Amino acid sequence: MKNKALYTGSFDPLTNGHMDIITRAARLYDELVIGVVVNPSKRSMFSLEEREEMIRKATECLPNVTVDHFSGLLADYVNAGGFDSVIRGLRATTDFEYEIQMAQMNARLYQGHVETVFLMTNPNYSFLSSSMIKEVHSLGGSIDGLVPEIILEYMDEKNKA
Ligand code: ADP
Repeated sequence: MKNKALYTGSFDPLTNGHMDIITRAARLYDELVIGVVVNPSKRSMFSLEEREEMIRKATECLPNVTVDHFSGLLADYVNAGGFDSVIRGLRATTDFEYEIQMAQMNARLYQGHVETVFLMTNPNYSFLSSSMIKEVHSLGGSIDGLVPEIILEYMDEKNKA
């Protein structure tokens, strides 16, 4: 049987911190789906379509990775999709508090055996968040090496507009 994992987030935009988790998770599972969370109440820099397109391009070199989106309850999407694991990235201890609550609540909602699997952040990217990337870039600071090249192109384009 194939092992199928889900990695979710807003990815507004995708950073090298996310890419590191994706690359490592893609090695651990036969199939990895990147699930972009649809949250209309959250103002985002990039539309859902743009974010999906950007992630598709950035993960082109990983053949077992696909991109999708979902709204509503994560557990509903997980149960319907037949996932074995849900991947989360852990940065500082501040992530831990929130993540353990979510993982324990979700464990009650998953049908069958679904594990939440935590991958520790790569120390090169432990400080990195999408919001910090957006802020530094909008103020003209360099984010070279912190996002995939293709993401930088999209961001330059967006900030020009
Ligand atoms: P959310 O809106 O759920 O916070 P994000 O796009 O910020 O979505 O993050 C999605 C996932 O990626 C989360 O599990 C988060 O902890 C993880 N993540 C974000 N940045 C990093 C990073 N620099 N290193 C490792 N994991 C990260």
